[in-house]
Amino acid sequence: MQDTGPLKEFLGSQMPAALEMLRQMVGINSFTGNRDGVNRLSRFTAECFAPLGFSAEFVPSANQAWGNHLVLTRRGRTERSIALVSHLDTVFPPEEEIRNNFHWQPEGDRIFGPGTHDIKGGSVMMWLVLMALRARAPKLFEDITWKLIWNSSEECYSPDFGDVCRAHFSPGTLGALVFESEGRLGNESRLVVARKGRGTWRATVSGRGSHAGGKHEHGANAIVQLGRVVQRIAALTDYARGLTVNVATISGGTVLNRVPHEASAEGEFRTFTPEAFAQAKTGLLALAGPGDVRSPADGFTCEVRVEILTESRPWPRNPGTDGLYKLWKEAADELGLAVNWEERGGLSDGNLIWDAVPTLDGLGPYGDNDHCSERSPDGAKLPEFVEVSSFVPKAMLNFVAIQKLCGASV
Ligand SMILES: [Zn+2]
Repeated sequence: MQDTGPLKEFLGSQMPAALEMLRQMVGINSFTGNRDGVNRLSRFTAECFAPLGFSAEFVPSANQAWGNHLVLTRRGRTERSIALVSHLDTVFPPEEEIRNNFHWQPEGDRIFGPGTHDIKGGSVMMWLVLMALRARAPKLFEDITWKLIWNSSEECYSPDFGDVCRAHFSPGTLGALVFESEGRLGNESRLVVARKGRGTWRATVSGRGSHAGGKHEHGANAIVQLGRVVQRIAALTDYARGLTVNVATISGGTVLNRVPHEASAEGEFRTFTPEAFAQAKTGLLALAGPGDVRSPADGFTCEVRVEILTESRPWPRNPGTDGLYKLWKEAADELGLAVNWEERGGLSDGNLIWDAVPTLDGLGPYGDNDHCSERSPDGAKLPEFVEVSSFVPKAMLNFVAIQKLCGASV
């Protein structure tokens, strides 16, 4: 067990600078669709890490409406490399921040504001940990080749970021550490070791329109057909296998005196295992083809089309992640911190990279109310916040665990 007093003291001394960095990051609106804002934040972030010896590469997103991904590199004396992963974007458009008066607002141990927790607090955590490593473990800091990689558009579907990461991981990569928010249960911190995958789908029915008064029997009602199809889609949910299928939107028809010729529904499915993911896809696609709603006049049959729109693969439990978690758990035990693992329903960039290098997530600070910007006078609605006192202990945990990660491989 090492004497962690000086480490704690060092991190405490860096907190004013860390919070000032966070304040400035939160002040830059970086809604995914705000390309200029995301690019401004990426330049600011590069400046924050430049004094630590990092050089910046701005990688255009596959979607030209979005900002650049950011890759910062610090070449080490060895081939061994560690990747730290975060994202630049938030879910809050500028208008929403103004409407809800949602901005940097410290209140006791909490700081409210867009991205304080998801995930600008995580980006600042990366800076704190690297500052501590340079000051307190200089040999390790100089030996390792550090890759810091920010997704410009994590809050939307951006599979190209997985390719950006893979292109920058070297064969000597010991692990990818993702700085999304920490989970909590009671006073126990939860690190993320698995995440559900998510697929999105659309079902479209083409029927045959007709005059609802004069030629009703000539119609093949697309809405009636879609009603049957969405029942079957909903029935694909299999809680025992951790598979949920959600019918989320539905539309069809035009005016009341027409038998509708078209209707469509969209939704998503989520699951932890690749097998259940494949099962859901197969089940959805099997519903395509001729339907069972027909025109009474001549048997014209509705046609059902099913498309899988996007696929974010599951991040299942795996030995690489479990190996990293073991090191963080050992570090927590040494530091006297209560740490456990969780399998989380929401996606992160971990889903894109877990099978390329060992990946662990949930390494950012603690906070709550992610993706919320409203505040009601009675406090029943509170916006996103980060807990200031969670930074130092979590940075200590990451510091000690990274030492173990490097030690374990020499
Ligand atoms: Zn996030």
